Amino acid sequence: MTTPSPAFDFDAVVVGAGAVGLATGYALAQRGLSVAVLEKERAIGQGVSSRNSEVIHAGLYYPTGSLKARLCVEGRRRLYSFLESHGVPYSRCGKLVVATEPAEIPRLEAIALQAQANEVEDVTPLSAEQALALEPELRVVMALSSAQSGLLDSHGYMLALQGEIEDRGGAVVVSTPFEGAEPLAGGGFRVRAGGDEATELTCRLLVTAPGLGAQAAAARIEGFDAALIPKLHFGKGVYFVLRGRPPFRQLIYPPPIPSALGVHYRCDLGGQARFGPDLHFVDIEDYTVDPALEPGFAAYIRRFWPALPDGALSPDYSGIRPKLHGPGEPQPDFRIDDASVHGLEGLVTLFGIESPGLTSSLAIGETVAARLGL
Ligand SMILES: Cc1cc2nc3c(=O)[nH]c(=O)nc-3n(C[C@H](O)[C@H](O)[C@H](O)COP(=O)(O)OP(=O)(O)OC[C@H]3O[C@@H](n4cnc5c(N)ncnc54)[C@H](O)[C@@H]3O)c2cc1C
Repeated sequence: MTTPSPAFDFDAVVVGAGAVGLATGYALAQRGLSVAVLEKERAIGQGVSSRNSEVIHAGLYYPTGSLKARLCVEGRRRLYSFLESHGVPYSRCGKLVVATEPAEIPRLEAIALQAQANEVEDVTPLSAEQALALEPELRVVMALSSAQSGLLDSHGYMLALQGEIEDRGGAVVVSTPFEGAEPLAGGGFRVRAGGDEATELTCRLLVTAPGLGAQAAAARIEGFDAALIPKLHFGKGVYFVLRGRPPFRQLIYPPPIPSALGVHYRCDLGGQARFGPDLHFVDIEDYTVDPALEPGFAAYIRRFWPALPDGALSPDYSGIRPKLHGPGEPQPDFRIDDASVHGLEGLVTLFGIESPGLTSSLAIGETVAARLGL
């Protein structure tokens, strides 16, 4: 059991028990800190981390030198070895990025160059014949194969992280919303938490990783300059499930759409084929899937899978990306803000942890620890 510094209830409090908050709690607990992860819902992993594609991204697309590029590649390497050593189901199934017409070939060539700049391993250009030998039902003129892309059981991953924190004497406390914090004279924070019983606890270090709640949490930290809180935009993406036999073994991605990777194909670890997510900016957190989107999905999918049968798609689930930009605006990087940004020693605030946040989570946790001087 780890004992906190005598002056505090915990060395570190992390707000949010999604993949990123749990991975951060794990990074801090590994360094011998006593950690409490506070979660407002009745169970861990009910937020963005349970409404995504569960794809382990290789790191092909992100701008050179960005946090997304670096943390996706490092996070992916760490993630495969964590999943393997903790017996969490995953598959390094590989992915094909496909050009379905000659006009898309320059976009694939640009992705290949970006992948090289990002030091992504095992990315190989394939001719149409080579791609068809792997996936005969594709419509393709050229493809990029990414052998390091894969799939994971995201809930199994989060349970394993929770286990690691608890095994080191930390606590993952559900039904306990973070309601605010104030910096203490001499360092550290007093944190207010709600739930069945309102609680106050003190900690030396505070990290906010509440996904879609990042802006609201930062606004409740006394002394946090409101001008430093970026505007939150909801980037909704819906999925359709395929009734019938999965047509492909690998992940299949057309070139990205503006601001997202776009509707892709995956066959999940249970053998169910799905397509999604698209991208719509919405004003409220609403997870309904509009069946009227089906014809648009079918037309898009037939560009790379002409044999999609009529009526084979059913509405499935949706997720909302915590975006820091609106429609038509450039897509910013992850924000991992420490005292050099906001001036509050011992505090790290995360904003805009959209894709590839799940893949990057272990590397985000390591970065947070480093920013806290650990
Ligand atoms: C449609 C879609 C597809 C995606 N696909 C992929 C993919 O294939 N691969 C990939 O790498 N990434 C993907 N992502 C991104 C990835 O899912 C996220 O980056 C990641 O899950 C974010 O994790 P998180 O822990 O920051 O947020 P969350 O999982 O949302 O966790 C935040 C937690 O904080 C809690 N919380 C909020 N406010 C408070 C409060 N006041 N007090 C206490 N707790 C609070 C929430 O309940 C939640 O449990 C996708 C995202 C979307 C939306």
